[in-house]
Amino acid sequence: MTTPPHDHFHSAHGTSINPALEGVRFCPRCGRDADVAFPRSISCPHCGYGAYYNPKPVAGAIPRTAAGEVLLLRRGFAPGKGLWTFPGGFVDLGESTEQAAVRETHEELRIDVELGRLVGVYSRPVDRVVLVVYEARALAEPQTTPEAPEVRAFAPDAIPYDELAFWSTAAALRDLLS
Ligand SMILES: [Zn+2]
Repeated sequence: MTTPPHDHFHSAHGTSINPALEGVRFCPRCGRDADVAFPRSISCPHCGYGAYYNPKPVAGAIPRTAAGEVLLLRRGFAPGKGLWTFPGGFVDLGESTEQAAVRETHEELRIDVELGRLVGVYSRPVDRVVLVVYEARALAEPQTTPEAPEVRAFAPDAIPYDELAFWSTAAALRDLLS
């Protein structure tokens, strides 16, 4: 049995890395046959329509208290529901990664932060996202939200590494604290 040529682009979970393009045959603009280069692109030789699928940028911030503790939230939703991470989310068109990190932190913890240094950029071939993480200074007391039903300040030597939501959560915390 031979491996399909695009099997490399399926994620470690066994699902397609680009379900939006899987099985697509027709141009969404003119409805005629399109050229699909799975999982990367679709183009239409009839009307010129084209769309490219790339990993999406996600921005995160690791807020720290004046005492140097790290603010983590327990995720309220999948993926990683019930596990700990720092605030973050998709970068919108029309904003920078820094703006997205600040906005997501405000949405999830209801606090303003002052961003510090870039902690790192986290990317793997099997993932659909590229995570950009900044260190941050918390400018207020965090609150819980539906996205963050529990928030806790952890000392650097008490990070719950066995209960973190994503591989990149652990990698960024290690890069920040080591
Ligand atoms: Zn077309």
